[in-house]
Amino acid sequence: MIDEVIAFLRARLDEVEAAASAARTSGQWWVDGPAEQSGLWWVYDTGAKFESEDVARHIARHDPTYVLDNVATMRLIVDEHSPTSRVVGASEPEALGCRTCRTREWPCRTLRILARPWCDHPEFDHTWRL
Ligand SMILES: [Zn+2]
Repeated sequence: MIDEVIAFLRARLDEVEAAASAARTSGQWWVDGPAEQSGLWWVYDTGAKFESEDVARHIARHDPTYVLDNVATMRLIVDEHSPTSRVVGASEPEALGCRTCRTREWPCRTLRILARPWCDHPEFDHTWRL
């Protein structure tokens, strides 16, 4: 089905959005530490403690607001690369492809790149692999 990759990407983005929305609390996450006695780092808003500053900063950087912004951006890209029946330069008017990429290749390379993080998902079609 021509829009299978679109449905796949929208379903994965729905999952990421739901998880980030559920995790969203009062605001931005931030890092503090290390504690004098334990040497642990904290990620505030969750109260979680970590032995590594790098891990703590990584988690805080991916707070729900950041993740939701990324989901919104990826949805815009998916919309830009949705299939069209009017590919510029196509000899057949019914030809399907990506108008943005001006290719009949489907899914286009951009959608395959977007799907890449979910290559281990059971619904990932391995023909989408780069
Ligand atoms: Zn495209």
